[in-house]
Amino acid sequence: MPPALVGLLGKLGIHVPADALLHLPLRYEDETRLTPLSQAQPGGPVLIEATVVSSEVRPRPRRQLIVRLADAGREVELRFFTFYPSVQRALVPGARVRAFGELRPGLYGIEMFHPRVRVLRGEEPLTDTLTPVYPTVAGVSQTVLRRLARAALAHPPFEDTLPARWLERLALPSFDEAVRLLHAPPPQADVNALGERTHPAWQRMKFDELLAQQISMRRHKSARRARRAPELATRGGLTDRLLESLPFALTAAQARVWAEIEEELAQAHPMNRLLQGDVGSGKTIVAALAALRAVACGCQAVIMAPTEILAEQHARKFGDWLQPLGVGIEWVGGAQKKRERVAALARLASGQSAVAVGTHALFQGEVQFQHLGVVIVDEQHRFGVRQRLALRDKGSSDGSSEPHLLMMSATPIPRTLAMSHYADLDVSVIDELPPGRTPVSTRVVSSARRGEVIERLRVAAEAGGQAYWVCPLIEESETLDLRNATETAAELAASLPGVRVGLLHGRMPSQDKAAVVAAFSAREIDLLVATTVVEVGVDVPNASLMVIEHAERFGLAQIHQLRGRVGRGAAVSSCVLLYQGPLSATARARLRIVYENTDGFRIAEEDMRLRGPGELLGVRQSGVPLLRFADLALDGELLERACKAADYLIERDPARARAHVERWTPEAGALLKA
Ligand code: ADP
Ligand code: MG
Repeated sequence: MPPALVGLLGKLGIHVPADALLHLPLRYEDETRLTPLSQAQPGGPVLIEATVVSSEVRPRPRRQLIVRLADAGREVELRFFTFYPSVQRALVPGARVRAFGELRPGLYGIEMFHPRVRVLRGEEPLTDTLTPVYPTVAGVSQTVLRRLARAALAHPPFEDTLPARWLERLALPSFDEAVRLLHAPPPQADVNALGERTHPAWQRMKFDELLAQQISMRRHKSARRARRAPELATRGGLTDRLLESLPFALTAAQARVWAEIEEELAQAHPMNRLLQGDVGSGKTIVAALAALRAVACGCQAVIMAPTEILAEQHARKFGDWLQPLGVGIEWVGGAQKKRERVAALARLASGQSAVAVGTHALFQGEVQFQHLGVVIVDEQHRFGVRQRLALRDKGSSDGSSEPHLLMMSATPIPRTLAMSHYADLDVSVIDELPPGRTPVSTRVVSSARRGEVIERLRVAAEAGGQAYWVCPLIEESETLDLRNATETAAELAASLPGVRVGLLHGRMPSQDKAAVVAAFSAREIDLLVATTVVEVGVDVPNASLMVIEHAERFGLAQIHQLRGRVGRGAAVSSCVLLYQGPLSATARARLRIVYENTDGFRIAEEDMRLRGPGELLGVRQSGVPLLRFADLALDGELLERACKAADYLIERDPARARAHVERWTPEAGALLKA
């Protein structure tokens, strides 16, 4: 096989011959029946057989090969705009050919554009199965893929990895039956069910795929129990002292999740836990408790956030909370002065400072710890799996133990995703907001009434209130985005004399960003015009009005996050969703969802339904492999069954569980090679 082809096949996931077996068709063509030319009607694709009458290359209006065929007195014209000389040479008058393609009415009778043609040599039987059409990339022809599939199927019956009685109960075909049917269905097969992937053969493949994923996830989880982590048990009462120093008491939900985390930190194997809680539910203090527990046990902790603003906010809070207890905190950010950074890293490497707070900069190789006990990742879905692993590997200087991992997210994971891609995580949920929050009232307003909204801003500012005005991303262009935010800020400043307007944008140098946030916190700015950089990280309780311009362009979870920036203090807060009409029915339905719901879980479910799971959780960037065949939005029931089946196999029939995973995971594809 030419190396170029090997590379292209690799793109399709075909690395070894057996991989072709699991490269399944998109659809089929029916070449099992001949349609007599005399009866052929324009419309769907047909297979015809006829004799070449003439063949010519016409230079105009566009160079093309025209081949006339005739059978039983009826003619058809085949047209090719690109063709190999070999094709032209083969299609000589008198040759008997079969052509498969769509018939269409032409100027002089019926014609076929670019049919698939074959010159017959004597009597050739028709194929007795439907012809598969595979997903492909440029440079790999269907012929190649069909040949590979046929070769992979030339194998004695494939052994089943599932017990026969299950197949009966689940009404699924055997693996052997399923793959053979999918690659070469009999002519009477239900093509619609195949196309929609509801056919039992498809169900079997999806079930197998989900089962393999479930088994691997469970194995990851048990492998984790076999690895070592420092036992961070209660010691010295440091966390109690932090709790006593707070101006508030933990909510019942915070106390519950802290108890869950506390218990797991005391184990000798690494925690891998997701802390979920709606915006403003108070995840940060729980993170600080976990970090402090590590410190109390002589270990270090690191907390990482996806943006400088958020990381700085954490640094400030951790400073307020932990420094009075004598804990040294270091800042590690991208825009840090070299000298400061070197000093900070030295204090972390020697163990002199116990806690590091920062951004992606923390991933870098030069960042070393003496003995890292806890890694905390805020807004976990914005980081990739590899990045989390990079931090985990910074464990102890001799590599003998790894840190406990606590990930935090305000974007709830819908049930099916939690059951599949996140099955190796434990989840703690903060399901209540701290007391004293005033519910945010949401209004959906047409941009035609923008003037009224601006007037409202003026009234609020005069009464000492603060507000956000969020501008959307424009076609993913940061430059346009910046201009738009800048213009909006200028326009609002002009129409609101006396109101102090600030601008916050992703492109600004981080010191400037920090300065703006600090000024807003200190009430030196009344109105903060921003792009979605405020989505995470700005915590100003006095802000009570949030205006989101072009709300129709935002994701629902995003709007919900933004809305969570207000309603943090005592003032009655509101969120205005400005939209640019006319709205499509879907856009209207989306805005209605955020308008009617204050529950982040419900909003996230809806967002997943509308935008797909990958979009919502950033799964694509995170490197978690997406499923090839199963669709979490449609195959929830199969997933539930696969979960039960995985539990059963691991417990009762580990050999089968192993064989099943080997068949389905690419690295272990060896099983099919036999
Ligand atoms: P998020 O979960 O969105 O990260 P934060 O941790 O930033 O939320 O908390 C939001 C605000 O609520 C902060 O100002 C924090 O100090 C405050 N807070 C946290 N827990 C409580 C509590 N139990 N009672 C009162 N205020 C709290
Ligand atoms: Mg937070």
